Parts: sequence; structure tokens; C-alpha cells
Amino acid sequence: EKLQMASAREERILVLVRLRPLSEREISADEVADWECINDNTILYRNTLREGSTFPSAYTFDRVFRGDSSTKQVYEEEAKEIALSVVNGINSSIFAYGQTSSGKTYTMTGITEYAVADIFDYIHKHEERAFAMKFSAIEIYNEAIRDLLSTDNTPLRLRDDPERGTIVEKVTEETLRDWNHLQELLSICEAQRRIGETSLNEKSSRSHQIIRLTIESSAREFLGKENSTTLAASVNFVDLAGSERASQSLSSGARLKEGCHINRSLLTLSTVVRKLSKGRQGHINYRDSKLTRILQPCLGGNARTAIICTLSPARGHVEQTRNTLLFACCAK
Ligand code: ADP
Ligand code: MG
Repeated sequence: EKLQMASAREERILVLVRLRPLSEREISADEVADWECINDNTILYRNTLREGSTFPSAYTFDRVFRGDSSTKQVYEEEAKEIALSVVNGINSSIFAYGQTSSGKTYTMTGITEYAVADIFDYIHKHEERAFAMKFSAIEIYNEAIRDLLSTDNTPLRLRDDPERGTIVEKVTEETLRDWNHLQELLSICEAQRRIGETSLNEKSSRSHQIIRLTIESSAREFLGKENSTTLAASVNFVDLAGSERASQSLSSGARLKEGCHINRSLLTLSTVVRKLSKGRQGHINYRDSKLTRILQPCLGGNARTAIICTLSPARGHVEQTRNTLLFACCAK
């Protein structure tokens, strides 16, 4: 029975919540922290001013991380197993979902670095296989896909390949050499993501970033021989657009406005995740957005998925925090 429970847990989407501490700026503006993790699974809303309100005040998840937790802890305790399944040929995706400034980029950057370090480590310890780790990075903004490793701004196109599924055509793929190479690529991505930021008003809060590591390997003893087979899988680190965009586009009448386009990907992802969490029955509308099309092979099926919902503890952010928790509840 224990075994069955373990596999049931694997199939579901792992839903994690990470609270960040109040920032220096919030503290000096006399912000108050109203959220507290009371154990490893429960986060509690405590605002004595709102006592007696109809809000539920306790929320339970697979795991919640307190404001003083480290990214290393989030990685080691929950994300590592999912990210490293890639070396065994299993696809996976790890998402950061939350409002702007809640800690998505902070969390995903750390997790990506720890995962790359561990994959390098694994490669060095398994000399019986020949490995290649490939790195690519794209941004989806307004349903247009851009290569974050290229200065060419032409949107990339998606193509359906009968064997490999949806492919991002012409995306730059770099074979990762070492840790310094990773740092170099990450800073190129960051610089590319910032381009146009001022003119478009905080573009990074409206765009999704996907960093994909593809690990290919084959047994050395069969290299170059007929019976040589290559194992390949990808892990995706997805830094989503600020979730405030999703709730804005859900508000009544907003569909007709220009803004409603902005986060088709975020809305479709919510729907896909909700359906997957209910047991993957019936039609799942992966094709409704670029994000879900690209990630389809790495969401559902045998793929492993984790969503890290990042939260600000500030009283002033309670509305958005609650929206994020509602999304998290739907996903579990
Ligand atoms: P987002 O990507 O969701 O907009 P960021 O990751 O940029 O948010 O985080 C906003 C700010 O808060 C950054 O200055 C970041 O360093 C800080 N921060 C976020 N999460 C944490 C955390 N868990 N611990 C300490 N500082 C954090
Ligand atoms: Mg960010």
C-alpha cells in the first residue's frame, strides 16, 4: 500500500508554497506580515483586524516554506528529485507562479543553478555513459516567442514534428561546458530579457521565461555501434509572468481589452494544470497557448511537474496572495 501511495504522489503535480520575508523597503514603509507557516504543510493568515471575515485562514499543501527558508532548502527537499529525473530520461517542468515581486526569479535562478551543478556532478560520476547537456532559453511575451540567447528579435515559430512533438524552430542550443559557461549564458538571458523593459513598462512581469536543459546520453560501450541508443529528456525551469495579469484578464469585460492577450499562456496553463490535477481525463487543451504547446511533452504523461507558488507576506498584498493560493489549491 505504501508503494501505491508513493506512485500516486509522483503522478500528481507537486504544489509547493514559498513565503518570502518582508523586504527592507516594506519594513521601512511599516508593512506588516500577515502570513505565517505554522508547520511544513500549512500556511496561516493572521490579521486580527479581519477576524470574523469569511476568508478561510489556513491553507494546506504538499510543502510550505517559511520566509527564512533558503532556496537551497527548497531545492534539496523538493525540486531536486524532479529536476534530476532528467538524467534517467524522464521529462520534467518546474514552475514559479506568483505576483510580481513575490520571489519567482529569485527562486528559479537558484534552483536552476543547483540543478545544473548536480547534473554536472552526476555526469562526472557516470563515466560509463557519454553525456551532453544542452541549454536553451526563450521568452514568451504577448504570445510571441523570442530567443534569449540571440540578439535577433524575429519571433521564433513552433512546428509540429511527428516524432519529437512541438519544436521551437531555430532556437539557439548551447552545449554546456562548465559552471562558468552557465553563468555566461544566464547573464546573456538576463540582459536580453531586460531589452525593451523601460519602454514596455516592466516587460519581465508580463513575460514567461523558459530555460530548458536537454540531457542526452548513450552507453560508451555501444558508441558508434548499430545497437547504440540515445536517452534524451528535458527539464524546464519556468519563470512565469506575474500572476496579477491572470486575475486582471479574468475580471469582467477585460476580455475585449488589449490586455487580455497578454496572458493567454497563463490562463491556459491554469486550465491545463487544473485538469491534470484531476487525473488527466478528457481533452486537455495544450494547443490553446504557446507556453502549454511548448511544454506539453514535459507536463502530463510520464513527466514530473512541480509548481512553486511564491508569496509576499505583506498586508498590502493580501488580495494577490489569496489569488495565488487559490491557484495553488486548484493545482493540488
Ligand atoms: P519576481 O520575480 O516574482 O517579480 P523577485 O524574485 O525579483 O520577484 O523578488 C523580488 C525581490 O525580493 C528581489 O529583490 C529578491 O531578491 C527578493 N526576494 C525574493 N524572494 C526572496 C526570499 N525568499 N528571501 C529573500 N529575498 C527574496
Ligand atoms: Mg521576476
